[in-house]
Amino acid sequence: MILENQEGAYSAITQNLTYRRYTTKRSSKQPGFLRVSWHENKTQLSVSGSVRAQLKRRPLVQTFTSWKAPVIWEGMFDFNLFDQRHAEENSSVALTVFAVGRYLDAYLKTFLTSAEQHFMLGLPVTYYVFTDSPEKVPNITLASQRNIKVIQVQKHARWQDISMMRMRTISEIIESEIRHKFRYVFCFDVDQEFKGRFGSEALGDSVALLHAHYYKLPKAQFTYDRNPKSKAFMETGDFYYHAAIFGGLWQNVKHLVDACYLGIIEDKLNNVEALWHDESHLNKYFWIHKPSKLLSPEYCWDQSISDKRDILVTRLVWAPKHYDTLRSG
Ligand code: UDP
Ligand code: MN
Repeated sequence: MILENQEGAYSAITQNLTYRRYTTKRSSKQPGFLRVSWHENKTQLSVSGSVRAQLKRRPLVQTFTSWKAPVIWEGMFDFNLFDQRHAEENSSVALTVFAVGRYLDAYLKTFLTSAEQHFMLGLPVTYYVFTDSPEKVPNITLASQRNIKVIQVQKHARWQDISMMRMRTISEIIESEIRHKFRYVFCFDVDQEFKGRFGSEALGDSVALLHAHYYKLPKAQFTYDRNPKSKAFMETGDFYYHAAIFGGLWQNVKHLVDACYLGIIEDKLNNVEALWHDESHLNKYFWIHKPSKLLSPEYCWDQSISDKRDILVTRLVWAPKHYDTLRSG
């Protein structure tokens, strides 16, 4: 299904336009082809090649948003170019993950060992693991330039609060530590397993993930918060984003988690809770502050979905959910 007119996106790009951070020029070396370059804060990345070719390689899925942010699908880009640029720019990545209560035993080891095989290989990575039981964090063999830091957090009584309060904890660790050491931050749910490359092509100023269950559905079916009393209330939006993964430059992630946390706290003061908790607030945030890059559901796939035609590579999959035995409160 083509969600947007890709030729329209293409012709907008060919008008030599400058739109937000994105600039394109006709390539003098390859007449008729385009060189795409964009500025990631002070880091300039460029990807040579034909935009038309990139669009044509994945004709059945949406590869650019209306605001010209790319949606990363297998086959669109030569990922080696991203790796080279990020190595030259000394990009570094902090990953945050929470394993509180029974989620630690159930998911953390698989998450971390699979991340070591697939997540941002070749770049310096530190895993910030937040848990109420630091002594139970498994010993994982890490490759060079990769570290793990375990930080104790309290266990909120309700699972909804465990999930929502991540926003505050992430803000605090960015402020106290990540901002001094890393350019990028990626925040992950723990109940997932890496299965394929999840590399530097996913890095960007502000990165959101298309939810596997909603990327093909009409907007009317998106499960945004519809309660006008909640700060997460929205009537319409661009996409339904999945809160299991978000990331970007630390400055932007800090802004995101602060905004979501403020919304969550204001809701608590008003005695309301958004329909899907932190995910509802995240969707509201990305509606107001458009992400600069979207990850396709190849980056977070639910294997129980029967229509897999668009999924050429599964890079990360949902782990089985056993809410009845794992959640508390
Ligand atoms: N979480 C946790 N312990 C809990 C509940 C949640 O550690 O008891 C963390 C964990 O990282 C989890 C995330 O919060 O992946 C979001 O919760 P969950 O995965 O249950 O939400 P869903 O995937 O159903 O939206
Ligand atoms: Mn989850």
